[in-house]
Amino acid sequence: MSRPADHRSVRRVVLPSGKTIEVLYFQANPAPVEHSAAVSETEGLHVCPSCASKLVAPVAWEEAGSAHWDVTLHCPNCDWLGSGVFAEALVERFDEELDRGTEALVRDLQRLMRANMEDEIDRFVAALGADQIWPMDF
Ligand SMILES: [Zn+2]
Repeated sequence: MSRPADHRSVRRVVLPSGKTIEVLYFQANPAPVEHSAAVSETEGLHVCPSCASKLVAPVAWEEAGSAHWDVTLHCPNCDWLGSGVFAEALVERFDEELDRGTEALVRDLQRLMRANMEDEIDRFVAALGADQIWPMDF
């Protein structure tokens, strides 16, 4: 069953690089309980310490001193929420991972658009072949 559309909310998060991403929530008031599981700095901030999903996204992101960031993270898979102060290099790796995720989504979207177009063209060609399209259709 699909979730009702009115239970979605979008939050804008500004990344250290200056880019803004939108995080989509499927609840009106996203208030998951903060869990004790800690982020693995070797795995990276995008890996959920609770369910190992690689879809963790930043909820809030704030400078904490000259080389650290205070980041609140959320896992859309298990609703894990955590925060911590992380070194700049780790946060930059996370930023790159988010970029890769965005690129993967754009590639999927392009593939989907191409597949839809190919499907439309196939149907159009089949209709032409079956003499079902006439000049008055345009
Ligand atoms: Zn998780």
